[in-house]
Parts: sequence; C-alpha cells; structure tokens
Amino acid sequence: MTAVNIARLTEQPLHVCVVNDQGPVGRGVAYGLRRPGYLLNVAARNMSAFPHEPNHFLDWLRTRSEFELTPDIELRERFVARQIYGDYLRSIAQHHLQSPGEGAYATSELVSGEAVDIEPAEAGCRVRLADGTAIDADRVVLATGNEPPAPLPGVEQLADHPAWVANPWQAWEQRRPEHDGSVVLLGTGLSTVDAIITLRALGWLGTIHAISRHGWFPHAHFRGIEYPEFPPPDVDLGALGLERLLALVEEHCAILHERNANPAIIVDKLRPYTQRIWSGFSHDERLTFAREHAARWNVFRHRIAPDIHAQITSSQLTGQLRVHTGSIVKLEPSAGQIRIELADGQSVHGDLVINATGPATKFTETRSALLQNLLRRGAIAPDSIDMGVRIDSDHTAVTSSGDRSPWLLALGPLLRGTYWETIAVPELRVQARRVAETVLGGARAEQESQLQLEYMI
Ligand SMILES: Cc1cc2nc3c(=O)[nH]c(=O)nc-3n(C[C@H](O)[C@H](O)[C@H](O)COP(=O)(O)OP(=O)(O)OC[C@H]3O[C@@H](n4cnc5c(N)ncnc54)[C@H](O)[C@@H]3O)c2cc1C
Repeated sequence: MTAVNIARLTEQPLHVCVVNDQGPVGRGVAYGLRRPGYLLNVAARNMSAFPHEPNHFLDWLRTRSEFELTPDIELRERFVARQIYGDYLRSIAQHHLQSPGEGAYATSELVSGEAVDIEPAEAGCRVRLADGTAIDADRVVLATGNEPPAPLPGVEQLADHPAWVANPWQAWEQRRPEHDGSVVLLGTGLSTVDAIITLRALGWLGTIHAISRHGWFPHAHFRGIEYPEFPPPDVDLGALGLERLLALVEEHCAILHERNANPAIIVDKLRPYTQRIWSGFSHDERLTFAREHAARWNVFRHRIAPDIHAQITSSQLTGQLRVHTGSIVKLEPSAGQIRIELADGQSVHGDLVINATGPATKFTETRSALLQNLLRRGAIAPDSIDMGVRIDSDHTAVTSSGDRSPWLLALGPLLRGTYWETIAVPELRVQARRVAETVLGGARAEQESQLQLEYMI
C-alpha cells in the first residue's frame, strides 16, 4: 500500500521497486490462498486500504457477484474471507503498479527475492539481494511485516524432525497425522485459531492440544453497545499513566458487568486513543504493560469473527480441543513424536507440533538477515523498549547515533514499540499514506492521525 500510495500521489516521474520474497505482492502471510475458511477479524466496513476513502473496500466488494445483492447494512458488518481481501489488495496493486493508466508519473517493478542488506551509496543507498544482485535507490521503506515465531528451548534438535512445524504460516496440512494421532499447537492466539479451523475443514478427527501460559483464546466480536460514559469527557487518556488508566478501566468494567453488558466494549472505546496512551506511558510503564497486561489486552482486542469463535468453542465442547495452561520449558524428540515439557512438570506429546507462539518480543533478536545487517551497520536502532525499529514522527528511521536516516523509513509490525497497535489494516493504511508522503517530501500529515481516530473502530 505504501508503493501504491507513492505511485498514485507522486507529481513527478519516479520509479517504485517492490522487493518481496514470498508470494504475489499484496497477499503477504495474512491474505494468501491457503484456505477459503480463514476470515478477516475486522468487519468489512473498516478494511478500506485508503484512509481518505472509508468505503473503498465495500465498493470493491460490490463489484463481486457474491456480494452484489447483500444488503448494505449486512455487508458492512461481514467478516469476509481473507483470501478475498488478498484479491482486493492484488487488484489495487495491479491497477496502480502493474498497469498504471496514461499520464501516471510513476513506473514500477516487482522484484522477487530476499533483500539481505542495505548500504550507503554515492547518492542514496544500495539494496543487496540474496542472489547477489543489487538495486540502487534514493529511499528504501522497510515493510517486512510479521516475523515467524521465535525459536523455543530445545528446537535445535528438531530442525529436521518430521513432527516439527517451526512456522504456522507454511502449509503443514499434508503432514497431519492419522485420525488417532495428536496435533499440539503452541500458543492460543490467532495462528492457533487458523490451525484449528484448518484441521476442522479437513475433517481431521484426532486430538488437538493447545498450550499457552494463560490458555486464553481470542474473544468473539459482538454487536457494540452504546456506552457514552467511557471515556469520561474530562479525562485526558494520554496523560493518565498506566496505574490510573487501569483503575479507570476496572471501574467501568464493573459498571458494565452490573448492567449485564460485555465489558470488552471498553477496549473498542480505547482503540482510537491507544497510540496516544502508549506515547504518554513512561519507559517503565510500557515495559510493565507489555509484560503484565498485553496478553489480556490481546484476547479482547484481537477478536475473531463469531463463526470462527463458534468453531473453536465447538471443538472444545466435543473434547477434540484440549487447552493446557503452562509455560513451555523444553521440547525434545520422543521416538516419532515431540514431547513438550511444561514448568509444572506436565508433559504433552504430539505427532505434529506447530509453533504458533508469535514473534520474539526483543527486536534485536530478529532472525531477518536484512534487519540484523542494518542493526550491525547502525543504519537502524531498536526503540527504547527493544520491540521494534526506532523512527521519527514521519516514519524516518533513526540510526544508532540518533540521526535521521537519509534514506530509510519503516512501518507496520516493525513499529510495535513506537505505537503498540501497528499490525491491523486500520493502522497500516494510515501509516502507508504517511510514509508515502514522507518519501514524496509532502506535508507531515498530522491530520492523518485525526482521520484514523474517526473510523478506526
Ligand atoms: C494470519 C494473519 C491474519 C491477519 N488477519 C487480519 C485481519 O483480518 N484484519 C486486519 O486488519 N489485519 C489482519 N492481520 C494483520 C495485518 O493485516 C498483517 O499483519 C499485514 O498483512 C501486515 O502487512 P505488511 O505488508 O506490513 O506485512 P506482510 O503482509 O507480512 O508482508 C511482508 C512481506 O515482506 C516479505 N519480506 C520480509 N522480509 C523480506 C526481505 N528481507 N526481503 C524480501 N521480502 C521480505 C515477506 O515475505 C512478506 O511477503 C493478520 C495477520 C496475520 C499474520
């Protein structure tokens, strides 16, 4: 979307080159073709790729025969298949990058390959690819997305084990065991939900174990309720600090409980303010939130489509899905299986074990060759809590010596430490536009944050 925005907003001739190592541009890991049963976890009304055109996705959906007759009110609230969202992004990329109309200033090129380093050059910089080729550029935008899960203790012995799946986003379906076997999912987040949906869709009848520290699955979306009391008009959420914010949230959750209403509405009500709240937190408050409250926040915040939630609940009720609470201490091969040892001494065996625990929390432990090389060069630096890349307010990367990079910008999941909420489309579309404007030397788009607040929920 950054490339698209650059191509559509430029008023000067320029060349945009998108380097991508997997799949067609637009799909990424989230919107691939793997299973039609994977649904978006955000309603269609909030999935426009353009911050200035809130109905762009809805209008595009209307061009498809299966949605032509869906009443507007229903379409807006629909959780559409993720692969359809990938079609949408692909069509935008096709229109603006691959076949721009006459009079377009930008030309573009899609390069398939892995970028492994970026070094300063006489003018701008030079991007090195794993195949030995290089691309010269005036500006480079890091949009490398979500990293696969961090390794767990003991995985060194499992690299070639037939029961080990280190990355839940790779196709593992063909390796599923017989119907009397067991699949163990490490983690109870969105990737584990995907895996359960996959096993159900395949009619697999074996036992599924899901393990996480707290055992919480994401909650389901529900129809919002009116609750104008939150946030209180006289409270500046950005200046509240963590302790007073927690007290305020608890107070309002108690009120909602008393009214028999779902307290998760508070998370929705907080969403337009999350970036402001996060930037108002001190260094220690950020660390405390990430350590002690993030898991709880995530189950309420990253809610899933009710249909998907119903499938998870059904698997639990039938006993096919068993949830274990505990910290993983070690993984080890155990004949053809893998044994997972938990801190309380329990152990679980799996014929297939899938790591869905999420990326490393420390950015400096990234396994991306590109990011490691940039860190080593000092071309990028970790943010103050080492959750992502340090940037300036216009998304320009800040170097290890504290200077604004002359050629590097970043956005998306790489900015968790700066924004906290930075992985879903409602945040990404605003960032993509802002980065494009920085690249093009435009205004610093302060009004964009305002726009984001208006239709984030
Ligand atoms: C399974 C899943 C489901 C999601 N569902 C939703 C949803 O329903 N609604 C929502 O709003 N958000 C959802 N998200 C979140 C969000 O939309 C995605 O995280 C989003 O796709 C991020 O976009 P991105 O372009 O920053 O990164 P990605 O889509 O991850 O794309 C990054 C691309 O860069 C490539 N790459 C990385 N490093 C290099 C390198 N060195 N050289 C070359 N290429 C490289 C990667 O292979 C990848 O193709 C989901 C995320 C996931 C993972």
